[in-house]
Amino acid sequence: ENVVNRIAAGEIIHRPSNALKEMIENSLDAQATSIQITVKDGGLKLLQIQDNGVGIHKEDLPMVCERFATSKLECYEDLSNIATYGFRGEALASISHVAHVTVTTKTNDSPCAWRAFYSDGKLVPGKPGTSADPKPCAGNQGTQIVVEDLFYNVPTRRKALKSSSDEYNRILDIVHKYAIHNSRVSFTCKKQGANTADIHTPSSAKTLDNIRYVFGATIAKELLEMEHTDSRWDFKLEGLVSNANFSTKKMIFLLFINHRSVDSSNLKRAVEAVYTEYLPRGTHPFVYLSLEIKPENVDVNVHPTKREVHFLNEDKIIQTVCEVLQSRLADANQ
Ligand code: ADP
Ligand code: MG
Repeated sequence: ENVVNRIAAGEIIHRPSNALKEMIENSLDAQATSIQITVKDGGLKLLQIQDNGVGIHKEDLPMVCERFATSKLECYEDLSNIATYGFRGEALASISHVAHVTVTTKTNDSPCAWRAFYSDGKLVPGKPGTSADPKPCAGNQGTQIVVEDLFYNVPTRRKALKSSSDEYNRILDIVHKYAIHNSRVSFTCKKQGANTADIHTPSSAKTLDNIRYVFGATIAKELLEMEHTDSRWDFKLEGLVSNANFSTKKMIFLLFINHRSVDSSNLKRAVEAVYTEYLPRGTHPFVYLSLEIKPENVDVNVHPTKREVHFLNEDKIIQTVCEVLQSRLADANQ
């Protein structure tokens, strides 16, 4: 049974950055305004996330790593109306099948924090010979999740990964995206033992300020703002896009739909096509787009590794987004 679970887990958690994305989304769901990440060996040795969110009640601790245990879905109809990131209750369960997980958490109505250890979906003792029950400890409100020795029991998956520096870069990419988009939340990300953080954004900054923090002041200065509310196709668009080359080898395309970081190759291709009219060949713009579409019109990616998203009236919405982009670029290049 554990082998089956482990294989299933490996399909959800491919690499450290997948695990981290799920954990960041959990912290955001828990209304955190501060998310601090510490990493060792590209997340394979250690992946730690500390938030100041609502915390987990002690009674719920035995379940958090159980498959399909979610506090976020009341009934099946909710599936088409998902406002939170999580709804499957599979992420922590999967992680616990391929790593050692420690959760330390405190809700505001609890006098102390509680710590619990997990393996293969279940509570396990922290030290041999002790009970598996959660233990009281000191702590501030919020949740800390420590994931150690990821894929220790899946050597093939471990071998399939590149260097730990490559994995760390993927982690930084994920944190960048969420830090830019969630401007009310302060993010830090650092390597364990490092004196300075590789990412640090303050809370209550504007999206533009966060882009400045992450990608540098020069790029942020040149970005064009996009804003559009569309009653015809029923969506809202916000964006920040460059009107010039951005010094990378490819277009930076950050897309959020209903606040989830997703891919849409159709939209990306269309945006690229618009730019070819305005930028010389071989230049690569920066594009940040945030779309809000009625949840029931978005095909929620039921599989966590499938980030490609589709939505109702996709052609029309993409066309409209491109028209808005085109007119912004046309204005700026007059
Ligand atoms: P899902 O997010 O789909 O509900 P997860 O496996 O990601 O499933 O998480 C399981 C449950 O653990 C969540 O429903 C939530 O109740 C709890 N949880 C996980 N991380 C946190 C966190 N950082 N703060 C508060 N609760 C959390
Ligand atoms: Mg989740």
